[in-house]
Amino acid sequence: MKLIIASNNKGKIREYKQILEPLGYEVISQREAGLDIEVEETGTTFAENSALKANAIFERLGCAVLADDSGIEIDALGGEPGVYSARYGGLETEQERTALVLEKLKDVPDEKRGAHFTCTICFIDENGKTITAEGKVFGKIGYEPIGENGFGYDPVFMYGDRSFAQLSAEEKNDVSHRANALRELEKKLKER
Ligand code: IMP
Repeated sequence: MKLIIASNNKGKIREYKQILEPLGYEVISQREAGLDIEVEETGTTFAENSALKANAIFERLGCAVLADDSGIEIDALGGEPGVYSARYGGLETEQERTALVLEKLKDVPDEKRGAHFTCTICFIDENGKTITAEGKVFGKIGYEPIGENGFGYDPVFMYGDRSFAQLSAEEKNDVSHRANALRELEKKLKER
């Protein structure tokens, strides 16, 4: 089945392909589907933003679509950056945003450096029926960026004694918030 991912984020598309193609989906990015729109994420929750993106694509193309919204919530920052993860501090690059997180946490002791990623998926099937699913993964913010893999906040997100950017794609795709959300989606798709 053809499935449009409502995103042009290369890191995300790669992870969705790795997880969904073995399940028999033909995963196509928004750009590959010939749709060049950027939906404004005006929601205040991950669920609202994923629904905004999925609906915008479904209205235009009328085929199955999956949109997600995700981000990192840091305990010591009262849950920031949350839905603003991709534009935290108004900063342009991932490196600047991770540096800002490390700076804000510079005096925070180990036991208070908890953080989690959340991913909310909004899936709309070819008939317009919506299914939502959510996944999380818990870890800690490290003290410096480590590792070369992944994207975004991966180099500062410690999962056990390694950062997410030190995990292989297979390891990350087994435990990530996106993988957990996809597992819930898969379960819901099978139940209906
Ligand atoms: P979205 O594209 O609106 O879902 O924004 C997601 C933002 O959250 C990304 O730009 C990253 O900064 C961050 N993020 C989400 N998932 C991950 C991940 O798996 N690793 C690292 N950062 C992530």
